[in-house]
Formats: sequence, structure tokens, C-alpha cells
Amino acid sequence: MLDPDVETRPWDEQVVLDDGAYRAQLDYLLEHSAFYRDKLGAFGVSSADDAGGLAQIGRLPLTEKGELRETCTPESPFGTHLCAAPGALVRIYSTSGTTGIPSYVPLTAGDLDRWVLGSARSYAASGVVAGERIVSTYNAGPFVAGAALASFDRIGLCHIPIGTGNTERLVAAIGLLRPDAAVLTPSYAAHLVEWAAERGIDLPGSSVRRVLVAGEPGGGEPAFRSLLEAGWGARVTEAMGIGDIGVSLWGECEAQDGMHLGARGHVHAELIDPDTGVVRSFRDGAAGELVLTHLRHEAAPLLRFRTRDHVEVRTSPCSCGRTAPRIRCVGRTDDMLIVRGVNVFPSAVREVVGGFAPRVSGSVLLRPRAPGVKQEPPLPVSVELAPGVDADPVLAEAIRDRLRAVLTVQTQPELVPYGSLPRSEYKSNLVQRQV
Ligand SMILES: [Zn+2]
Repeated sequence: MLDPDVETRPWDEQVVLDDGAYRAQLDYLLEHSAFYRDKLGAFGVSSADDAGGLAQIGRLPLTEKGELRETCTPESPFGTHLCAAPGALVRIYSTSGTTGIPSYVPLTAGDLDRWVLGSARSYAASGVVAGERIVSTYNAGPFVAGAALASFDRIGLCHIPIGTGNTERLVAAIGLLRPDAAVLTPSYAAHLVEWAAERGIDLPGSSVRRVLVAGEPGGGEPAFRSLLEAGWGARVTEAMGIGDIGVSLWGECEAQDGMHLGARGHVHAELIDPDTGVVRSFRDGAAGELVLTHLRHEAAPLLRFRTRDHVEVRTSPCSCGRTAPRIRCVGRTDDMLIVRGVNVFPSAVREVVGGFAPRVSGSVLLRPRAPGVKQEPPLPVSVELAPGVDADPVLAEAIRDRLRAVLTVQTQPELVPYGSLPRSEYKSNLVQRQV
């Protein structure tokens, strides 16, 4: 554990500390952010006392990415919620988001330090320790993920940055430099398993004993995870953050039962009903959209920010001793389809289909027939077969039946030959949308 005193602190003690930080953060926001002065003022809140403590946070309005973006102008590229003096900023990241319109994430030195610390706790939860080697595959320069790379130094790892798009160089580095761990997106991790197998390279026999995945959901789903673990001969754990709030906020421990909040003390997590915005209790087994609030941020702190990540919560004691709550991400609002009233996440479809390995390769592509989110059943799904496996109508039927049983969605699986669906060295797009 990187920070045992903090990470094992009883959660009720953390809540007391967070409550004080939250009140100070609110007063800071009201003093420095024109955006929140207006937004909260319209709500009758002009001081932290008006708002109450963390227990009452659910009464305050949510913050949407779109409303932040609307306040951005060429003169004010950060929008009206920038709280710090321009000279106090030490880094500015850009995120493209799903809309493709860049937004800028400014950080003070303190913000950057807290980002790196939270990220270091999250990655250290995987079991990597000082003195080990880690190979990374993010082309992270301008992107928020860049901050995560500094967390490897903080842990004391020997970091070998390789970047995306050069698989041969990556595999050569693994062979020659013998890293203990690799960090990459789950899609790229899956692609490498196939790439190595096709070339007769013994990836499970490599030095890599831990694979740390992040950047998209899926690394925590049992069938997909076991495919990666078998292909790498390594333990797979996942991490997750969101650019606007922080990088690698959450990191999974060796118990592999969800990602702990590594950014505890810096960020407060809530759950809401994604359709109505109504607060749901953040308790064991609960599910909903994750909403995050900065507790000690300086440059552009966010209050009740809608992440659009759909998560399941675990608060039961964890064998690792960390007391922070855990989440598993089941998908993002932006990827979701609604098939006759049923919410369908592409990674959940991949997970169910992955249960048919070794007859399937694990790659799927949802092919909605209509533009937009709402679809009429059955939903066409291309399912890729494993190498050398022939299309069998009985298998397609079994996949259809299991998808209906597990996800209550009617699909029309189409079996396609191995290698016919696109692979990604970064993040996979599991939906082929109609435009
Ligand atoms: Zn744990």
C-alpha cells in the first residue's frame, strides 16, 4: 500500500475530513468561480452554510459538461469556472470527449500533485511495487492520461514508455527489458494476445506478471478478464478516471472485486438515477451514474459533475485492507443503446458473448439498424468466431438465448470469421452506428 495511514483509515473518519474539505471548497468556489456563483446563487446558495455539509450535497444542482462548455469563449477558453490566476497554472490538458470538441483542463501545482498522488495509490493497488519495471503504451503527451505516467515515478517503478502504434517495438521491449507489469487499454491488451499468438510469440511466458488496464470499461468483466489473463499469463486489474475530475481516480487491488477510490480525500463520489438525476444511496450493491465533486481542487473545481459512467458500488470490507469504496464500470451513457426500453451496454454484450470462448474470439460489433440511441429489437450483433471455427446456427442461437437471459435484450447474432472485425491499439468502438 502506497499510503497505508490514509488508505486504511476507517471510512467514517474519512467522511468527517471530507465534510470539512467540502465546506471549504464550496466557499472557495463561491468566492472565485463566476460560473458557480451564478449557478448556486440561482439556487439560493451564497455560502457553504446555506448549502449544508456533504450529507446534503444531493440537494445542490448537478453540473453537466455541456454547460461548462457553453461558458467557454475565445477570450476565456476555460469558461467562467476558472478559479485560479493564470500565472498559478502549471499544466493545461485537453480532452476531446465524445463530441470531438476539445475542452481544456487547467491544473495548479497542488492540483497536479493530488492527481499524481491519487493515481499512484490507484495503480499501486494492483500490487506493483518500487523497484519493479512497468512498460506503458499511452501516447499520453497532450492528454489527461499523461498525468498518470508521473504516478509510476511516485510509486518508485522503473517506467519504460513505448506509446501506442508500435506493437513490434513493444513486444521487443518486453522481451529484452523484462518488465514486471504493462499498462494499456483492455482493447490493446486483447489485440496483443492475438498478435502474439499469430506470430508464435509466447506472451504468457514473458516477464509480465501484472497487466494494468484503463481507458475504457471491460477489464473487470470476468469473461473478458479471463481471456486477457490467459493470454498474458498475468493478473489483470483495472483503473479509471475522468479527464475533467482526475486521472486514474479509481484502481483495483489484487482481490479483483472493483476499483477502490484512490483519490479519496480529493474527490467525493455519489450515485444518481441516470434518467431522473435523483440521488441513489452509495451503498453496497447499488448501481447508477457516477457523480463526482472535487474536495480540494484549485484551478477549476467541479461540483456534482455528471461523469456519464454507469457503475456498480461495493462497500463491503476488502481483503486488501483498503477502506475506500469500490466501483465497477458497466458502461458509459454515450455508448448505451436502448432496445425497446432495455439499456444495453456494448461491453456487457461482449462479456456475455465472451462466455462462449474458445469457440468465439471475444470480438463483437453491435450494428444498430436505426440512428440514435433507441432501437427496435432484435438488435443485430456481429460475433467473431475463434480461428478455425465454422459458423454454426446452433451456436448463434445459444448466444441469442444467453443474451436474452442475462441482459433481457433481443438480439440477432451473426457469426463472422476470425479477423473480420476491427482491432484497436487504443480504445475499441463496439458499436457501428447509423448516421
Ligand atoms: Zn481491495
